Amino acid sequence: MSNAISIQDLHVSYYGNEAIKGVSLSIDAGNLVGIIGPNGAGKSTLIKSLLNLIPMDKGNVSILGQKVKDVRKKIAYVPQRNDIDWDFPITVLDAVLIGTYPNLKLFKRPGKKEKEWAYECLQRVGMEEFSKRQIGELSGGQQQRVFLARALAQKAEVFFLDEPFVGVDVASEETIVKILKELCGQGKTVMVVHHDLSKATHYFNQLVLLNKELISYGSTTEVFQSNVIEKAYQGQFAFLTEMGV
Ligand code: ADP
Repeated sequence: MSNAISIQDLHVSYYGNEAIKGVSLSIDAGNLVGIIGPNGAGKSTLIKSLLNLIPMDKGNVSILGQKVKDVRKKIAYVPQRNDIDWDFPITVLDAVLIGTYPNLKLFKRPGKKEKEWAYECLQRVGMEEFSKRQIGELSGGQQQRVFLARALAQKAEVFFLDEPFVGVDVASEETIVKILKELCGQGKTVMVVHHDLSKATHYFNQLVLLNKELISYGSTTEVFQSNVIEKAYQGQFAFLTEMGV
């Protein structure tokens, strides 16, 4: 199996406070990986620093064997819903069309072919009937599906999603999970920041357990052990019992 994401000794800090301390990871292609850990564990920071959206203090990251800047077209990122300006005046179809831009030739606008492909991606997430709506008029689940469609439109190889299920209805959550599993079945690699432990074993085949440092990485069954989870969620045992860990 080929390596999709390689991280060596990653350190990230905000104003001198370390948020990620010496994380090293090597993830093979075709995995659906959940990043779990308590609030403030650095889950979002990990993704953002991998994508060069925030600077790292130290470390080496490669995606598909290349530096991130050289492989951007093959990386799709779905940020947290809070990080998106939903008042921006753009229709659903145009928002998805943006996903086709990285693969367009220089100075070329998206044409009929791209529009048809964007529509197909909307169909895949079950949102085609909303294609002419403004993105701000959608529910949380619908918005998240549109942003997944945009990622699909990009024809990426590696997908990063930050808390895609927050504020999302059950049907949308199921649709999103189904598509993520299909992507992995096609050999693509998907990393998802996820705070809800109760679903982690159903959704992912691998887990990264983080609390600033890497606590554990491996198959979901390996990581989802009470003694391993406790190391990250120190002092939150009642919560863990509720989650059935
Ligand atoms: P998680 O996603 O696991 O909840 P984050 O990556 O959002 O954790 O945050 C990790 C730590 O970094 C937290 O202590 C958080 O307060 C801090 N942090 C995150 N973003 C910023 C920022 N923009 N400025 C300063 N501190 C930040």
